Amino acid sequence: MRALVISDIHGNVVALRAVLRAAKEIGYDMVYCLGDLVGYGPEPDECVSRIRELPGLTCVMGNHDAAVSGYISIDSFNQDAQESVHWVVEHMGAENLQFLNHLPDLMVKDGGTITHGSPRNPIWEYILDSYTARMNYEFFETQFCFIGHSHQPIVFRYRQMDGILPNWYIPINGEIFEFTDERVILNPGSVGQPRDRDPRASFGIFDLSQLTWTVHRVTYNIEKVQKQIEESGLPERNAIRLSEGW
Ligand code: ZN
Repeated sequence: MRALVISDIHGNVVALRAVLRAAKEIGYDMVYCLGDLVGYGPEPDECVSRIRELPGLTCVMGNHDAAVSGYISIDSFNQDAQESVHWVVEHMGAENLQFLNHLPDLMVKDGGTITHGSPRNPIWEYILDSYTARMNYEFFETQFCFIGHSHQPIVFRYRQMDGILPNWYIPINGEIFEFTDERVILNPGSVGQPRDRDPRASFGIFDLSQLTWTVHRVTYNIEKVQKQIEESGLPERNAIRLSEGW
């Protein structure tokens, strides 16, 4: 059994389609979507509709999903993000907004914990270093925890006997991680707005029987999405950053 793990799609349906094509070739039985389906990108409604159709879907709420659906206030968002939130609300169907509004912020599924930011603070916290990761091991009970939000793929492996802090790794495209009894926090990176200076769309495949994890990167038509953003009236930075990967 394999799970396709996607996060931070951010209204980029062109990248999402490229990811789904690549994942189909690998093969998967279910999908974990770690939130931020919308925000920044030009096709939020299409993204939500496409994700809702995916087989065996488990989906949690990201900070952008929470903001556009009125679940949280946008006061703490930066200027670009705030403008994007207003734009998304105007360009989405009521039913898809309702779907976002009703998403849980954390799910436990197939022995894994699934959330957007962190198990300690599902909507907002970034896990970017082993100290923050270590703190979060106290907030979930499963062997595996899947997180997004930082838009950067990362692996944390932790066994108490190995030391105080978890070991961390930046996975490269196609690298296979095998796990045994350690507890693991996994971030698949971002489909629609990677921020690790690699502009290719990022996704993860988790094999539940083999206990393996692989992050894959795929190219997509970035220029097409940049053109859509320019024509849509969204902030120009939303377009520029896609080809730079920040
Ligand atoms: Zn995000």
